[in-house]
This record gives sequence, structure tokens and C-alpha cells, in this order.
Amino acid sequence: MTTGTMIYEGKAKRIFTTGNPDQVLQYFKDDATAFNAQKRGTILDKGIINNKISERLFRLLEQNGVPTHFVERQSDREMLTKKVAIVPVEVVVRNVVAGSLAKRLGLKEGDLIQPALIEWYYKNDALGDPLIADEHVRLLKLATPEQLVEIKRLALKVNSLLQPFFLERRMILVDFKLEFGMHNGQLILADEISPDTCRFWDQTTKESMDKDRFRKDLGKIEEAYQEVLRRVCG
Ligand code: UDP
Repeated sequence: MTTGTMIYEGKAKRIFTTGNPDQVLQYFKDDATAFNAQKRGTILDKGIINNKISERLFRLLEQNGVPTHFVERQSDREMLTKKVAIVPVEVVVRNVVAGSLAKRLGLKEGDLIQPALIEWYYKNDALGDPLIADEHVRLLKLATPEQLVEIKRLALKVNSLLQPFFLERRMILVDFKLEFGMHNGQLILADEISPDTCRFWDQTTKESMDKDRFRKDLGKIEEAYQEVLRRVCG
């Protein structure tokens, strides 16, 4: 049960205080948005599914030396996490060309990217989360050069752990978005890792099993999220 005060409401989650000043509660909603919230909808039980998938992936990463904000899953839709100061940079890791990368640079969707590509986006809704370079991170003082090096190292480590994990489950990890935060002077992984924040393609059919089904009106959205949950946690 959420008993604390709501301190933040995002597109897919609400954040509440807890009795412990060092911890907050993430509540996962079914609300779905795309294209900087110009498209809105609901994906039935998405909050429950994303909470469970995130738990499984955060546990996997922690077990392999990646520090995360995960403390425990408290209920279907609630996850207890360490309180962090979010670094306002969205970190995108890409293994296969898709989405905005294909559009922006005229690359062919489905082409492999080796080694993986890392991009920074300025986390700013009013500006539409623009793509930025290292120098912009410095100019805007979003992170120190040392933090940026550490973020890159951790993002690549996350990729090297998640890619084989999903392949074993017959899924291609096309790309994903990470957010980091500062906790007691340490950079740790925050937010969520779910079909909302990753692109997964079925290894055989290459069908999307993620939010692209909502973005592109491909249908069978709930079924795809349930199937990811089954393969990841089943
Ligand atoms: N992504 C995200 N939140 C955002 C933007 C992107 O989680 O605000 C994820 C998205 O689901 C995909 C990856 O980051 O897995 C790369 O997204 P892309 O830049 O291709 O943008 P999109 O096509 O989603 O507009």
C-alpha cells in the first residue's frame, strides 16, 4: 500500500516518500505515452509487468556487479528503491539500427551495430529530449567528465549482461534507454528496464515485443508485454 506523499509523477510512474528518508517507492502505472506524450493510451497491466521485469533485470545486474537503485519489489505495482539525484541524461545503447537512429541518419532498420553505440539525450520534456554530444553535457553541467566515463562503462556492462540474457530467451535486444542517479556519492542505475524502455525483437520472426507495438499501432500490445514477462520471469 502506498502511504507516503507523492513527490513526483512521470508518464509511466509515480514516486512516493517512505518512512526511510533514503528510500522512495516507485508505483508503475498502465499509462503509455509516445512521441513526447503527443500520443497517449493505456496498456492493461503494463505497470505490473514492467515492475516484475525490472525487478528480474535489476537483480541480474546487481548479481553481476552493476550497482542499481533496486531494494525490493513490494507489491504488483510497487518497487522500493534507493533515493537518488537523477542525472538528467537519457543514455541510449544500440545494437541494431531502429527508431530515431534510422530516421535521423538514413540508416537501414535491422542493420547490426558493432560495437554497440551509445548516445546521450538531454532529459528535458519542454525541449523534447534532444540528442546531445559530450560537449553539451559539459556545457549544461549535466554530469562531470568523470561521471560520463563511468556512465559509459556501466551502460556497456549492462549491455554485455542483457544481450546474452535475452538471446537465451529468443529475443534480440535492439536498443534500450538507461537513467543513472547519484546515491551517497556513487553513480547507480535507476528508473526501470522494461518493454517501455527497450526494443526487443523475437529472434525468429523479428516481430516487435515492446512499446513500438503502441507507437506504430501494431496491435497485440498486451500480448507482447505478457510474452516478454513469460520469457523473462516464467
Ligand atoms: N526510449 C525511452 N524513452 C525515451 C526515448 C527512448 O525509453 O524517452 C528508448 C526506446 O524505447 C528505445 C531506445 O530508447 O528502446 C531508443 O529510442 P529512439 O531514440 O530510437 O527513439 P524513438 O524511436 O523511441 O522515438
